[in-house]
Amino acid sequence: MQKPLTSSIIIPEKIQQDWQTMLNVLAELAQVPVALVMRIHEQEIEVFAANASLENPYSVGDKEALHQNLYCKHVLEHRQKLIVPNALNDPNWANNPDLALNMIAYCGLPLFWPDNTPFGTICILDSKENTFAPTHQHLLETYQKSIEAQLNILFQHTELLHNHKKLQLEITENNKRINEINSQLANEIDCRRAAEQKVKYHKNHDIGTGFLNAFALYRHIDKLINSNQKFVLLHIHFANSRTIQQEHGHSTFDHLLTEYRSKLTKITDTSVTGRLDSSDILLIIHADKKKLPKLCQHLSEIGKACFSNNEAKIHLQSYIGAVHSKENTSRNDLLKCAYNTVIECQSLGKTFTISDRSLPIKSSLSEHKIETYLLEAVRNNDLFLSYQPKVCPYTKRWVGSEALLRWNHPQLGAISNEVLIQLAERNGLIYELGNFALRNAIQQTSEWVLHSPNLVTAVNISAVQLKDPHFVQHVKQLLNLYKLPPKNLELEVTESGLIADEALAIETLTQLHNMGVSIALDDFGTGYASFQYLKKYPFDTLKIDKSFIENVEYCANDQNIVCAMINIAKKLKLKVVVEGIENHNQERFVTLEGVDSIQGYLYSKPITADKFEEGLFNQTSIGTPYFRFM
Ligand code: C2E
Ligand code: MG
Ligand code: MG
Repeated sequence: MQKPLTSSIIIPEKIQQDWQTMLNVLAELAQVPVALVMRIHEQEIEVFAANASLENPYSVGDKEALHQNLYCKHVLEHRQKLIVPNALNDPNWANNPDLALNMIAYCGLPLFWPDNTPFGTICILDSKENTFAPTHQHLLETYQKSIEAQLNILFQHTELLHNHKKLQLEITENNKRINEINSQLANEIDCRRAAEQKVKYHKNHDIGTGFLNAFALYRHIDKLINSNQKFVLLHIHFANSRTIQQEHGHSTFDHLLTEYRSKLTKITDTSVTGRLDSSDILLIIHADKKKLPKLCQHLSEIGKACFSNNEAKIHLQSYIGAVHSKENTSRNDLLKCAYNTVIECQSLGKTFTISDRSLPIKSSLSEHKIETYLLEAVRNNDLFLSYQPKVCPYTKRWVGSEALLRWNHPQLGAISNEVLIQLAERNGLIYELGNFALRNAIQQTSEWVLHSPNLVTAVNISAVQLKDPHFVQHVKQLLNLYKLPPKNLELEVTESGLIADEALAIETLTQLHNMGVSIALDDFGTGYASFQYLKKYPFDTLKIDKSFIENVEYCANDQNIVCAMINIAKKLKLKVVVEGIENHNQERFVTLEGVDSIQGYLYSKPITADKFEEGLFNQTSIGTPYFRFM
């Protein structure tokens, strides 16, 4: 940006008026007819301000072309005062144009801008000879200084304005450049982010379907486990995947899987899908236990539905293995359990199976350490029994209880019974655990029967205990000690306990049965024992396993199996107990089939002896107990 030329600086009107006033005073004091401020231009000189007098022949705006005979030109060229007392007598000024206006005397001073460029002059003229008294010259000099001071201010102001404009221009330019750089940078960041996202996406997803790949899914499972979140892991195997891929191509199968996935969102919005390999996917959902069977049923129906690909109509043949996450279970064990469940589901020809397997606890603590803790717990009486009521399906009164072992370790937390019993069976501590459960249950029941004489308490007996030749004697001693009639005690054994040593088990159980203790076959239907067992052993009660009840509302197969088990039990004159009743539909179904007693969370979870006693003693005489424990 160029510096402003002084010639282009505009003198404000107000200053021009001030100068005029000043010139009036000057003319009057110097007693001359003319006082002027002249402004020089490139080719001419202009009357810029003039005193107001009738004798003044000059008007503001009058111009004269620049030539040698002008006083003002001379003053500016020599940068000094010029006094011409009488031009008529001075041959140098014979051609001066002012003579034509009768002005013969002149006294003038130059006016300069602070940058030394000329502005013009301040001068007084007279029509008669005049040597211009020193006071008048002094006055003229004072006005010259005053005007130059004003020119200085104007100049500074103009320069300031100019610099301000220049700065603003620079700022605008800089801002423009910064904006350009910023937008280039943002563009580059966007491109890089998009590329990074693509890489991240490929790292974590299956390309064909967009599902998480195994690597990302495992990480997700770990996160859920570490934050103690409960979830359900579904392993879905598509048995006809290979055929579809062979006939219609891999991309068609991938497309079917994404369609399958999009249909899932209609039944559950909290799912994460991962692809393990070409024919298996894993689904993580947050569903509670009650809703899971219905959800699995929906899932298999979605698979069976028709997917159209061009003209062809394709169905997915899916098998679903579901497993609930449990505290302290490792990712690997969960995956293994889901995988085994889906294999089992396929081999049984079911569409879905919900695992009831026990999951091992994380092996962060060695088995040896847990054993030590367990030994301490047995010795220090840190174990206790909880009791779960058995209910009459018709009156809903509590007719019995099942004693269930509980161990709440300060470091390990609540330990699942499956883990506890397996461990104790392996290291022989089961004798101590078993005796503990028997003694406590018998002692406790002996107090309750004083109030409820028909109450029967069931105690679970391990296969290892049955091998103990002193077991019968031991039970007899405890019954005598606490004065509990044998009819108030039931022993629950599982099929696995019978297989171990058939002859000894028959002998032991028969002696107990003859004593009046009732014998129940627990978890019926889960093992491999044939119905022959029911004839061989002196069972009084058959306890249908909860895994058949879980899906009985939806699954026709399970309904048929439960009916068949109840019929056989009735034919063999065995009582039937059903465990795992969690809702009224399940209750209605088994009640209609005519079972003897029912047990499950619908009535109460296993509770402490005190709470059980409260519930037992506070039952109304007929109908449901007036309160429930959940
Ligand atoms: P079990 O004898 O079949 O006991 C029933 C199990 O089902 C108990 O689990 C109980 O809490 C659970 N249960 C009861 N109602 C419901 C329900 O409505 N829904 C569901 N999902 N579960 C229900 P728990 O206490 O964890 O015991 C597991 C197993 O550990 C028992 O199965 C039994 O085999 C064994 N056990 C428990 N206490 C002892 C004991 O003192 N000695 C021996 N040898 N085994 C024991
Ligand atoms: Mg049991
Ligand atoms: Mg059971």
